[in-house]
Amino acid sequence: LLSALKVRKSYGGVEVLKGISLAVNPGQVMCLLGPSGSGKSTFLRCINHLERIDGGRISVNGELVGYAQRRDRIFEMNPREVARQRRGIGMVFQRFNLFPHMTALENITAAPIGVRRISKQKAKERGLELLDRVGLANLAQSYPAQLSGGQQQRVAIARALAMDPKLLLFDEPTSALDPELVGDVLDVMRTLAADGMTMVVVTHEIGFARGAADVVVFMDGGVVVETGPPAVVLDNPQSARTKAFLDSVM
Ligand code: ATP
Ligand code: MG
Repeated sequence: LLSALKVRKSYGGVEVLKGISLAVNPGQVMCLLGPSGSGKSTFLRCINHLERIDGGRISVNGELVGYAQRRDRIFEMNPREVARQRRGIGMVFQRFNLFPHMTALENITAAPIGVRRISKQKAKERGLELLDRVGLANLAQSYPAQLSGGQQQRVAIARALAMDPKLLLFDEPTSALDPELVGDVLDVMRTLAADGMTMVVVTHEIGFARGAADVVVFMDGGVVVETGPPAVVLDNPQSARTKAFLDSVM
């Protein structure tokens, strides 16, 4: 469902992604680990074309992201097409980025109503279903400021799901949360994984990766150092760099 081939990205002459190649099959969960500055967030942002890539290619659901190919020439997509592609890829950030002036339910229904032109009634029904799915059915009318960080993050997940994404990207979804709130968010993510959602999750939650990931990728310095099933990468890493990183976070 997601494939990245030799993806390169530089900022002002400094290459932060040095040829990343990865693949995620439908229904798989990939956890991405690596030290600060290794390029994890940059790579996620490239997947939905929030960043342009300087080399290589990324495709989601069989479509090149951000580019169209005709014969053997590659063209940049127009912004409308990029927006259409991006709607199929949900993203959940470390900071929940909810609209502060909207209730939990309104946060979830805004894009389906405004962008997908779904009727208000339908969007609301679906939004309530999604709130129920993330365990917040009773907080539909609450504003973000009235919710805990963990509740806000679960609203953010429901908001991403409301667009029926084919792929969900998470960038350290629990690292801004108080420790006692992390579990509820990880539980929701585990449920999504079990329901077959395709996910790429940047996280330092090794326990989550061990239980939920099909594939674990360790990145360092803009390259993929090691990739494999959690039982190998987490518990029997082949690379000294992976080992040193795991020792530092566990
Ligand atoms: P962290 O664990 O701290 O979130 P990360 O693995 O997500 O780290 P990135 O945020 O992808 O790392 O950053 C990779 C490198 O790219 C860093 O050296 C960072 O300073 C640099 N970088 C990221 N975004 C930009 C930008 N917009 N302009 C210039 N440099 C950037
Ligand atoms: Mg990051």
